[in-house]
Amino acid sequence: MTPYDAPLTQAEPAPAPTALVDGFGRTVRYLRLSVTDRCDLRCVYCMPERMQFLPKAEVLTLDELDRIASAFVRLGVRKLRITGGEPLVRKGVMDLIDGLGRHLRSGALDELTLTTNGTRLAEFAGDLAKAGVKRINVSLDTLTPDLFARLTRGGDLGQVLNGVAAAQAEGLHIKLNAVALKDDNAAEIPELIRWAHDRGCDLTLIETMPIGEVDEDRTDQFLSLKDVRRDLESFWTLEDLPLNTGGPARYARIAETGGRLGFITPLSHTFCETCNRVRLTCTGTLHTCLGREDASDLRAVIRGGANDADLADAIRLAVDAKPEGHDFHIGRGLAPAVSRRMSTTGG
Ligand code: SAM
Ligand code: SF4
Repeated sequence: MTPYDAPLTQAEPAPAPTALVDGFGRTVRYLRLSVTDRCDLRCVYCMPERMQFLPKAEVLTLDELDRIASAFVRLGVRKLRITGGEPLVRKGVMDLIDGLGRHLRSGALDELTLTTNGTRLAEFAGDLAKAGVKRINVSLDTLTPDLFARLTRGGDLGQVLNGVAAAQAEGLHIKLNAVALKDDNAAEIPELIRWAHDRGCDLTLIETMPIGEVDEDRTDQFLSLKDVRRDLESFWTLEDLPLNTGGPARYARIAETGGRLGFITPLSHTFCETCNRVRLTCTGTLHTCLGREDASDLRAVIRGGANDADLADAIRLAVDAKPEGHDFHIGRGLAPAVSRRMSTTGG
């Protein structure tokens, strides 16, 4: 099987009797778990340069993260993605990931995965593979060292490229995520795709999302993926793939490179009706929609002494109220649709 034949998602199983089903009949099977709001980079579209991080007491301990994640697994969640902030800067994160690996071994979980900026991947790749992680997402917007340093406000591209190589050497499948930015990486997108596909990696392009205040006006950076696709189709052949991950990505295969290209267009509403995911912030707030302000405080539930049945009830109640669709809009001078940051929510 070539890396491109690797499934992007599992076939949809029938809902378990305990399944988490929302008020619109969608079954929640996917939890994204943010383990920290901290990061060693400061990407311009994600954070302001002078970022105020959360006090430690507000952030869930590793035991609390495990407890809540495991409650979701008991309620039928089949896929867990560890994210952040940068998950690999959280002290003890490998203990958490190792611990959650028990759900893979028991068969309760289909997939344990991670989204990372890759700066510390060279150090962690071996341990991730040992814990049962098979595929990871690495965010990479450019292959130009100077632009990488500017977009991340000081990052070292070489570290990320070493991380990607180390992860591949450990047998991890890598999907690259690149935020499409009009004046910064637009011209480089074909080269980025070619680079990823030459290495057997899928690549997904992401439109800038109006989430959290940053220092710049995102309207200036916004690049429509419709335009990007039209441009790519002037020299490549894109064949749509019938893959649906229950999320906002749509996939095409590029005949000339043989690789898969994903498009995440969060400003369109086309994915809400099949949305199967929820997000837990590192402070224990459950968001059932990335594009809404809805929130349930699971930290208060567990720190208030709830037993596992109470926790399960609180999760069910929150999922039942999952909004039908999101509220994104992007426009000059408009406040972000959602005031919390991507680094808090977990992208
Ligand atoms: N630090 C890790 C990383 O960069 O992969 C994980 C967290 S990061 C918040 C997850 C993803 O969100 C990254 O791929 C990043 O590019 C994306 N992201 C952050 N802010 C965004 C925004 N305003 N619009 C679109 N994507 C964004
Ligand atoms: Fe950090 Fe990821 Fe946000 Fe960049 S996108 S600042 S790497 S959390």
